[in-house]
Amino acid sequence: MSERSYKTDALVLYSRNLGEADRLITLLAWERGKITAVARGARKVKSKLAAGVDLFTYGQYQFHRGRTLDLITGQEVKEHFAAFREDATLYPYGLFLSEITDRLIRSEEPCPEPCALLLEGWRLLCDETLPDRMLLCRAFELKMMELAGFCPYLQGCLQCGTPEAFFFSPRQGGLFCSQCAGGDTIKLSAGTVALARRLLEAPLDQVRLLRGFDLQRRELAASAAAFRRYHLDIGELRSLQLLRSMNLLP
Ligand SMILES: [Zn+2]
Repeated sequence: MSERSYKTDALVLYSRNLGEADRLITLLAWERGKITAVARGARKVKSKLAAGVDLFTYGQYQFHRGRTLDLITGQEVKEHFAAFREDATLYPYGLFLSEITDRLIRSEEPCPEPCALLLEGWRLLCDETLPDRMLLCRAFELKMMELAGFCPYLQGCLQCGTPEAFFFSPRQGGLFCSQCAGGDTIKLSAGTVALARRLLEAPLDQVRLLRGFDLQRRELAASAAAFRRYHLDIGELRSLQLLRSMNLLP
């Protein structure tokens, strides 16, 4: 392989049409971080690249370094995650994982842990026995924020350390107790704080064993949205708009 070529495992985060027959795709690559690349002719029926350029694809890709954008020159699809494209109610959850990853992981450094987390998240969502897709999304978001170094502090009061801390400050990125809480906090129930801690700490597949009551689900959604807006400068995500339009949000 020449110096201008490289190969890596990667996940397709975004895929859109470009010109007459090309696709422009954004990938998260184990060894390269985020890559935006062109798949020339990928929309032609006979293209050998057609199978690997869809959103939610996991594969090994070969690239040729271009002056502005890299070109995809070869690929081997490992998992296609067709369920996301076939099931309209599943699609926005998979998209949520992609969008959160895209916003949080921006570097071109190797990122094996975020890649592994996203791959596991997609696999769990596609498993029909998963009891609560939204809870999986919440756990995933917390874990990806932790990997990116943006995770809110959930262990106790940011000021005095007591674990009895149920006031969440999106601005300060953590919890406060009733004594230390300022005016810009969201009051959470004890159950919501306990659930958030479990979602962050337990391995992702343990989400199967967790349940959230309606109140906890609503409080988690409101806190996550406020935190995202404040720290990540993320407005409403396309995935959440879709879930809202389907009445699937808590
Ligand atoms: Zn305190």
